[in-house]
Amino acid sequence: MERRELIQLQDVSFGYPQGAFRLSIPALAIDSGARVAVVGPSGSGKTTLLNLVAGLAIPETGSVTVGETVVSDLNDAARRRFRADRIGFVFQNFALMDYLTAGENILYPYRIVRSLRLDAGVRKRALQLAEACGIADKLDRHPGALSQGEQQRVAICRALVTRPSLILADEATGNLDPETKVVILDLLFARAAEQGAALLAVTHDHELLQRFDRVIDFADLRQATVS
Ligand code: ADP
Ligand code: MG
Repeated sequence: MERRELIQLQDVSFGYPQGAFRLSIPALAIDSGARVAVVGPSGSGKTTLLNLVAGLAIPETGSVTVGETVVSDLNDAARRRFRADRIGFVFQNFALMDYLTAGENILYPYRIVRSLRLDAGVRKRALQLAEACGIADKLDRHPGALSQGEQQRVAICRALVTRPSLILADEATGNLDPETKVVILDLLFARAAEQGAALLAVTHDHELLQRFDRVIDFADLRQATVS
């Protein structure tokens, strides 16, 4: 049987409507279950790559495929469904809802995606994740009353609670102390392994790179695309 990559970018080019930044990726493939670190200087396009994979940014040319889905061909509603079904995204700026408590933020996907059912099993999983992240006693607080590191852990729990097959983590350990960093990274790796999920993680922690199967260096990627 033919082996398929989980993520495939082919002849992708992208630019924001405002600003001069352009990203072109002739070919990039990531296997199912792979644990991949994305490194590179600030502004080199790491977040943009994650957004392209998640269908939050649409390439001008080329295609982005995740599993059997050509993400770049979907309309807005189908892209939202695809993200809800497949992707857990830990955003660099957390993107928590201030009007909701930490606990409600973790369960946010179940508020906005009709196909997701919030049942006792999900609530239990949310609590287990919060316990593993050391924020179980903070679930009644709003994001404004949490430290950056606590907010980050809420965002991580929210990304994992739906058991996604692809975890996108954008500097997900950036605001954590060294010990918590290791706990959170262990959790991300353990969940990815349990679910057979791929993990694509932007990181600046070069001492953590040896834990990944592969490192995509954005400086290299972009150099390779200069024609
Ligand atoms: P990184 O995550 O590697 O720091 P980004 O992917 O966030 O880099 O950004 C790549 C480049 O695109 C940067 O020069 C940034 O300023 C620019 N950029 C990011 N978001 C936008 C936007 N919404 N509009 C215009 N330019 C943007
Ligand atoms: Mg970024």
